[in-house]
Amino acid sequence: MNSHLTHKLAQLPFSLACLFLTTSVLAQTSHASVEAAIPTALIARVNKAVDADTARLTAIFKDLHQHPEIGFTETRTAAIVAKDLRSLGFSVTEKIGQTGVVGVFKNGPGPTVWFRADMDANSVREATGLPYAATAKQHLADGSEIDVMHACGHDAHVTWLLGLAKTMVALSSDWSGTLVVYAQPAEEVGLGAQAMVDDNLWQRGFPQPDYAFGSHTAPGPLGYLSSSPGVRMAGVDQLDITFKGIGGHGSSPQATIDPVVMAAQAVLAYQTIVSRNLDPQAAAVVTVGAIVAGRDNNVIPESAVLKLNLRWFTKEVREQMLKRIDDINNGVAIAAGVSADKMPTRVMKGNAGPLVNNKALVEKINISLEALMGKGKVIDQFPAVMGSEDFQEVFRSLNTPYVLMMIGVAPLDLFTKARAAGKEAPYSNHNSDFFVDLAAIPIGAKVNAVAALSILAKRR
Ligand SMILES: [Zn+2]
Ligand SMILES: [Zn+2]
Repeated sequence: MNSHLTHKLAQLPFSLACLFLTTSVLAQTSHASVEAAIPTALIARVNKAVDADTARLTAIFKDLHQHPEIGFTETRTAAIVAKDLRSLGFSVTEKIGQTGVVGVFKNGPGPTVWFRADMDANSVREATGLPYAATAKQHLADGSEIDVMHACGHDAHVTWLLGLAKTMVALSSDWSGTLVVYAQPAEEVGLGAQAMVDDNLWQRGFPQPDYAFGSHTAPGPLGYLSSSPGVRMAGVDQLDITFKGIGGHGSSPQATIDPVVMAAQAVLAYQTIVSRNLDPQAAAVVTVGAIVAGRDNNVIPESAVLKLNLRWFTKEVREQMLKRIDDINNGVAIAAGVSADKMPTRVMKGNAGPLVNNKALVEKINISLEALMGKGKVIDQFPAVMGSEDFQEVFRSLNTPYVLMMIGVAPLDLFTKARAAGKEAPYSNHNSDFFVDLAAIPIGAKVNAVAALSILAKRR
């Protein structure tokens, strides 16, 4: 366990993958695809298998919700996943990228499908008032304690994954191929997927993926899901900038080089990157999420740290932003009289590329998903968001076609009321009021199973 990292995680004022359905949620679907849906009888068997498992899944979900774990500390969650998958006959490997779990179920010849759930919770104090709300603080390895809550629905993702696993085992005579389900650590800080890859995920002899899927909660209405092709989410970078000056007495600024002033100038100058340097048609974000400097009123500190978050859709925009940040940092430091050996440093802490759903794969699964959910309930024209994910980073080196689906988890009446009040949704991911309606538990498991069967079902 990297306690330094854990401490850092607890302090991060930002997080990734926060997204929700927007006004287009009730837009019409339009399938131009010639794909055939999986047989109606098979969808009926999925419904039956998941319905029979819903009481168990709901109990798992409530337990996970009550015991949230922050990124890279998901040991309890991972143990639950590993135990459940083993009991179903999956071959299970644990502790990949610290807490990641991979389960393999070989079921004859055919394609290999990988399916992901992320496990980590958020440093948010729960205010839902649910009977199974998380109330305990999490104690970190460095002795600090933090509020912790599943405010992004990753508890539902894990539950849906276990529902998928059990359903696919129950229906194993209906499909042929290999199903790999895996639980990923630390999505919220954008480090978990890369941690699994760096821990030799692809050198361990697991069946290589032909297709990959993930599903994520969204505060859209229950019974709807978004499975849309193309660019869905922005690329992201987390970086720390350190300005080094010369500290001293607050009464004698002439004897110092004040890093607080340099940092302040840089924060303002960064505001011109998107507004003045980038093509106005290129969507991008530069956010300074934290300024860390000094402690006392009358001491000019030695250094100041800025914690930045960038969002972008193209490599060129990302490179332009990083170059401008470096130019601004150096320019500010030179103007302040900083010597060449103390120029500002930039540390890259986490990175994920944009999430781009594979168009052919979207078409392949949507026809069956619509047969499951009902006409007009599968949104395939959802606009891209500036939120980010690291799901795709696991498959980046393999070029695996993938789809991340967004599943509505908010009660329809709350959603309708929110819309009537001019709000986008009744609550958002990462909010202390965020919750997954229990009716979404079987829905997500069914969606996962139908997506997997769209690839793996025997075609008679
Ligand atoms: Zn999140
Ligand atoms: Zn999330």
